[in-house]
Amino acid sequence: MKIFDRIILLDIDRTIFDSDKFVLEFDKFLTAKNPNIKLKQASDKVKNNFDFVTFLSQFELKIDDLAAEFLAFNQQDYYLGNAKQVIGKLKGEKVVCLSYGDRKIQALKLKLLNLDLPLIATDNQDKGQLIASWEQNGVYLVKFAGETVAARQLILIDDKQSNLDNLPDDCLGLHFNQNSTYKNQITDLAQIFDYL
Ligand SMILES: [Mg+2]
Repeated sequence: MKIFDRIILLDIDRTIFDSDKFVLEFDKFLTAKNPNIKLKQASDKVKNNFDFVTFLSQFELKIDDLAAEFLAFNQQDYYLGNAKQVIGKLKGEKVVCLSYGDRKIQALKLKLLNLDLPLIATDNQDKGQLIASWEQNGVYLVKFAGETVAARQLILIDDKQSNLDNLPDDCLGLHFNQNSTYKNQITDLAQIFDYL
């Protein structure tokens, strides 16, 4: 098994991906199909933890069927800020997306970004704790798409501090948030490079 010195774990929603714009555009797309579907309204009520799959199932819709159609319909760019440029400059690094939410929805988001990165979709709302559970004999085992790679250190970049709170001490959490008081706060994704 390949052992990396470090792997960068990149959150998707509100870190590299404009989730609000996505909800708005997906809402337009669905409303054109059926005016009774009020995706944005439903999503606004719960914000971060909106369950797309359950919502769509109420209308007997499946993301499998909708994803390709939405990709063809879509004309927007969902990169947040300078995320595209920053990810482009991470070429020498092993980067994996670690994202809360349904795998198919998160995969659609990466497709909308035209971003070919491995994806780990989790239903664990505490990524620090999840990452701690990956530790085995001094390395972290990172599993995605049937592949396992190991790393001595993981660097998690996330807009939610609660995902960083329980990170193991030998990992690094960068809090991408304007209003953060976290020890490693970044307000611009390009600040990642100060830590590499
Ligand atoms: Mg996020």
